[in-house]
Amino acid sequence: MSLPTIAMRVCVCLRCGWQWVSRKLDGKPPVRCPHCRSPYWDKPLERETVSVAVKAARAKEKKSRGKR
Ligand SMILES: [Zn+2]
Repeated sequence: MSLPTIAMRVCVCLRCGWQWVSRKLDGKPPVRCPHCRSPYWDKPLERETVSVAVKAARAKEKKSRGKR
C-alpha cells in the first residue's frame, strides 16, 4: 500500500515569516520568497549575527574576568 507522492512542501521564509506551499516536480527549494522576494529566505543570517554578537560578548566577559 503506497500513496502517490506529491512533491509538495511547506516553505517558511526565515526573513519575513511568510509561509507558502511549493509544488515543484524536481523537489528543489524555491529560489525566492514570493512575499519579500529574498533569495535567502531559507538561510537564517540573523542567527549568525546573533551568535557572533554572543561570542563577542563572551570574549569580553572572559577578558574582564581575567583582569580581575
Ligand atoms: Zn519572505
